[in-house]
Amino acid sequence: MDRGLIVDAVKNGKVLISDGAWGTFLQNKGLKPGDCPELWCVDRPDDVLDIARSYIEAGADMIETNSFGGSRFKLEHYGLADRTTELNESAARISRQAAGDGKWVIASIGPTGKMLLMGDVTEDELYDGFKEQAVALAKGGADAICIETMSALDEASLAVRAARENTECEVICTFTFERTVKGEYRTMMGVSPIDAVKTALEAGAHIIGTNCGNGFEGMIDIVKEMRDVETGKPILVHANAGLPNNVNGVDIFPETPAQMAALVPDLIKARTNIIGGCCGTTPEHIRALRKAVDEIKI
Ligand SMILES: [Zn+2]
Repeated sequence: MDRGLIVDAVKNGKVLISDGAWGTFLQNKGLKPGDCPELWCVDRPDDVLDIARSYIEAGADMIETNSFGGSRFKLEHYGLADRTTELNESAARISRQAAGDGKWVIASIGPTGKMLLMGDVTEDELYDGFKEQAVALAKGGADAICIETMSALDEASLAVRAARENTECEVICTFTFERTVKGEYRTMMGVSPIDAVKTALEAGAHIIGTNCGNGFEGMIDIVKEMRDVETGKPILVHANAGLPNNVNGVDIFPETPAQMAALVPDLIKARTNIIGGCCGTTPEHIRALRKAVDEIKI
């Protein structure tokens, strides 16, 4: 493996580029509301491969996998819980094929939709669910497990531990924050960036960060807050292309590639190590981010 570890690649100050949206890309390719996105890894692998390839071609150093909702808790809504291993393994294998030997596959694990606080599941059930998904993603060829869009500390912590204790993969953990009326950043469950960082690191995450949310600009403030408590670990940002406007039932994300690229210097100044996109970002956004990063002399 000539690509080595992601944490080593950013050690000397190099900024890496990650990929853009998967969900909105799948919708553009015909995924309908109510369809299971992860089933496409088996039923429409060429379309999934095309998404992965288009981000590699745009200049991404790493790509995610089509497995965001691939926990058995999410798949059971579609009657697919017994195919959890198969779907996740396929997701990782497809992204591995696109990434080749030179780029990293950071395999996506999203929230389960279950809340420990509400007694929906036990800690053991949740841990076992994350373990099952992470092991399958690793088996399919993932370099890292990217636990993302987290908002509850207990769920994030179990997911990180399950990935750390059962795979050899590097583990990334990112939270989604909204700006409150007081101007503070909090997850849906009221968690601050500082507490998110502390919990993710205690559980064993190698890389921390933030994804989704309102757009690029807020990400700069969130990274600054994270850097107040953590100076050494790499930080990853997957930003949405702004806050969506719903036009005739379709979400339109307003930030253009050029607008996002213009904020790259500030994001790097705040000491972000890995930059990519979330909802609404396209290969064009990633191409613009790549160019912006390449033009900065460190
Ligand atoms: Zn998003």
